[in-house]
Amino acid sequence: AGWISIRNAGKVYDPFGKAVVAVEDCSIEIRPGEFVAIVGPSGCGKSTLLNGIAGFDSLTSGVIYLDGEVVNRPGSRPKPGPDRMVVFQNNALFPWATIMENLICGPVAQNRMSKVEALDKAHALLAKVGLSGIENLYPSAVSGGMGRRVEIIRALLNDPRVILLDEPFRGVDALTKSVTHNALLELYDLSRKTVMFITHDLEEAIYLADRVLVMASRPGHIKQTIHINLPRP
Ligand code: ADP
Ligand code: ADP
Repeated sequence: AGWISIRNAGKVYDPFGKAVVAVEDCSIEIRPGEFVAIVGPSGCGKSTLLNGIAGFDSLTSGVIYLDGEVVNRPGSRPKPGPDRMVVFQNNALFPWATIMENLICGPVAQNRMSKVEALDKAHALLAKVGLSGIENLYPSAVSGGMGRRVEIIRALLNDPRVILLDEPFRGVDALTKSVTHNALLELYDLSRKTVMFITHDLEEAIYLADRVLVMASRPGHIKQTIHINLPRP
């Protein structure tokens, strides 16, 4: 599962009584297991859409379904959940917990895994992306690119339906970027979770995704869909 269905979504912010249309009549289908990137200029409404799926903010029109269940519609308070894991640009690891504690706390706290099982899975995923050995470090001791890889692993360990990434590699230096890109692809190939990846970087979108949606500067308007048929390296 992990089928995202966005129907005629709209979002108008109204700070200080001055309406800002952030998304207007946007419809998108993302199939289970698909890796979709949304690319578009700053301010076109990408984050607003992602926040709508995550349940951080309510739509002002339209509806968002996840596996046929409404996760967002106007007038009802949306509810975020571990079924929709989000990775942002900024470090969101607990600074007072080690990398390993950050990784296993979700599944263990929710009684979805024993501590032993969570440790095993976390070790295996860290090894998969070349991060064995950082388990006992604190987040402040690892680079931004490493932290992002850890956050993607943490998202996976929660066994979500979808992973929502909002410019996760912005600010990661160019050399580390290719390592983080390949780590994300390795983890995606392992898990086959539905991925929605937001970026303003078309090259990044094309490298990572199976399908790229281009959002125009008209709020939330999907201008073009690019299907990528080339096998990944
Ligand atoms: P993107 O992610 O594509 O850069 P956003 O979804 O962040 O775009 O923003 C879309 C539009 O909505 C922008 O004009 C932005 O200024 C506006 N916006 C975003 N969040 C808020 C908010 N909390 N209050 C008012 N306006 C907002
Ligand atoms: P129709 O012929 O009316 O399009 P479908 O059974 O194909 O009927 O479903 C209509 C739409 O409902 C689909 O395009 C999809 O967006 C949505 N839908 C159906 N099942 C699910 C699901 N499990 N999760 C999310 N959306 C779903």
